[in-house]
Amino acid sequence: MLVLFDIDGTLLHAHGVGRRSIEHALSDVAGRPVSASGVPFAGRTDPAIARDMLAGSGVSMDEMEPIVAEGLRRYGQLVEAALLESPVTVLPGVEAVLDRLAAESSIQLALLTGNLRPSAYAKLRSGRLDHFFPFGAFGSDDADRYRLPPVALRRAFEFSGRSYRPSECVIVGDTEHDVGCGRESGMLTVGVCTGPHERSLLERHGADVVLEDLATPGPLFRLLRLDS
Ligand SMILES: [Mg+2]
Repeated sequence: MLVLFDIDGTLLHAHGVGRRSIEHALSDVAGRPVSASGVPFAGRTDPAIARDMLAGSGVSMDEMEPIVAEGLRRYGQLVEAALLESPVTVLPGVEAVLDRLAAESSIQLALLTGNLRPSAYAKLRSGRLDHFFPFGAFGSDDADRYRLPPVALRRAFEFSGRSYRPSECVIVGDTEHDVGCGRESGMLTVGVCTGPHERSLLERHGADVVLEDLATPGPLFRLLRLDS
């Protein structure tokens, strides 16, 4: 099985470091104040968030793409530096679950996240989790999260030479978008209630399993047909 983990709200909390860094980076590059206020972050990709922030700050479509590209490049540098000052908090049970899954020869761990690749690994390094994830699908691959599952399958093939069917994949995440992109791609989905949402919302969007947190992983292990 290929198990694809989201990062923010699922493995760790970054305490607003991403939000502050992206505001700072986009404001610098756009030459005007760019605010994240009112822009939804949870479950979305960094390029989609950046475009919404810039549009809300009066940047026109004509000016948009060069500012997005340079702003996200700058964001990657700022977030790395900010995480040295303010490290992430790894969520309860995460290390134990990843240790357990990494030890199973039938399980391949990877990422499916809206973070750009550099900021994804910066956050994981801050929590000493990066070594669990040799590859992934990122916001830098596509601004639309719903197009990331096929990217993850392609990366898995490039990494291991193995073709996973969608039914052999599990997405673990904290929002309806994690659940939604997995379901739309025919993958199994596990919701965790350590992000912004309650169990009922993740169940309503069709998660196969919903966990309060990864400290109570029994239903995830059963879904993967492992002894818990
Ligand atoms: Mg998340």
